[in-house]
Amino acid sequence: MKSMGSPSTPVVTRFAPSPTGFLHIGGARTALFNWLFARHHQGKFLLRIEDTDRKRSTDEAIEAILDGMKWLGLDWDGDAVSQASRADRHREVAESLLESGHAYRCFASQEEVQAAREAARAAGKSLRFDSPWRDKQPDDVPQDGSFVVRFKAPRDGETVIEDQVQGRVRVSNDELDDMVLLRSDGSPTYMLSVVVDDFDMGVTHVIRGDDHLTNAFRQVQLVRAMGWEPPIYAHIPLIHGADGKKLSKRHGALGVDAYRDMGYLPEALRNYLLRLGWGHGDTELLSTEEAIRLFSLEGIGKGAARFDFKKLANFNGHYIREANNEHLVELTEPLLAAHFNRAFDDADKAVLTKAMPGLKERAKTLVELGESAHFLFKSRPLEMNDKATKILDDASRAVLASVAQRLEAVEDWTASSLESAVQDFAQSADIKLGKVAQPMRAALTGSNVSPGIFDVLEVLGRDESLGRLHDQSSL
Ligand code: GLU
Repeated sequence: MKSMGSPSTPVVTRFAPSPTGFLHIGGARTALFNWLFARHHQGKFLLRIEDTDRKRSTDEAIEAILDGMKWLGLDWDGDAVSQASRADRHREVAESLLESGHAYRCFASQEEVQAAREAARAAGKSLRFDSPWRDKQPDDVPQDGSFVVRFKAPRDGETVIEDQVQGRVRVSNDELDDMVLLRSDGSPTYMLSVVVDDFDMGVTHVIRGDDHLTNAFRQVQLVRAMGWEPPIYAHIPLIHGADGKKLSKRHGALGVDAYRDMGYLPEALRNYLLRLGWGHGDTELLSTEEAIRLFSLEGIGKGAARFDFKKLANFNGHYIREANNEHLVELTEPLLAAHFNRAFDDADKAVLTKAMPGLKERAKTLVELGESAHFLFKSRPLEMNDKATKILDDASRAVLASVAQRLEAVEDWTASSLESAVQDFAQSADIKLGKVAQPMRAALTGSNVSPGIFDVLEVLGRDESLGRLHDQSSL
């Protein structure tokens, strides 16, 4: 194995998405691995937009990919390269292959190619198309007429790739036909463009999904025909659903924008994607710095990874708990403003910030976090959910009346003083603390789940808290 990453061979990786609408989860993982590998080796991470399919490559689709990358914190070096803008260079390379005898003009029509394939199939022979134009002398070739430029692929021997994930993989050269490099309208094919771009961009490592493994053999042949050095390949197994089947929307085959909207934090998704197909012992949670320090191609698994929403949610819960309160306020405030259909001012934000340490303990997503904060901003009298209604029976309402009376006397409206007051009350009235706390929780939040009740009292403040308790008490 070559040792890369020494100062004489700086690592250059690239992410080369085809802009088909959004940055999907598999693409995001590929981008992440390339980014980590480049950062680990203090190399470069380049972005190339494979926008040669002009119909599908809209500006919106490109923007969606760039947005997804930025949101995930995957910064690329230099400007994003448009593959389509480099078509002249791709044609130039095809011309040089024609000149060196590694490519030829093929005048066979689509119908002829099709007919040859049919005949081969009927005869039970290889479906490889053997162009009658492959070995023609220049004099025997028409001066006009429609043609494609085909690569004159080697027929003998085999092509071997020392893949960093798949191991040594090989194909017998007689299995590969002479791929088209330039179409009859002169447009370069994907296969040619990728090879030329990777070379011109100085890419040392191609890390991508293993659906590209068969392309890699043809690409290597082309690279060699140009007299270039092939990059090092690492083909990552694709992501499957939790049931082991091909990833579908139901399994999580969505754009990263969908994960953002579902309330996942970019750092959580990044950590989850890292663990989806890469491992370092049993370590699950890794900071970005640790991930950069530890990332290696050896850690990439050979089997298909399975996407597990539950695990992602657990990662997200962890990162929410770790996140700074002000940052979480910024992220949840727009959700709350949309829910209540009003602007949130500084006073609202102060309430949210104060409540955040309690709220973030439970939430698995920002959406849940936002919902768990609704009670803070509801207007009196609060609507009670079914569980709260059940808790608030006659006995509980009577308890509320007495405890509210006791709380009115508390001068220092802080969680700790309120806690002592409620404890004293429970003791003197000879009721279990839970029998006081549950009705209070229902009255204060309209629900049976909330952050610690004394924190809730403190955050809501004296007037609002007493008001809510009185609303539900029987006096
Ligand atoms: N554009 C290709 C894709 O989106 C990737 C090509 C490559 O990585 O070589 O699947």
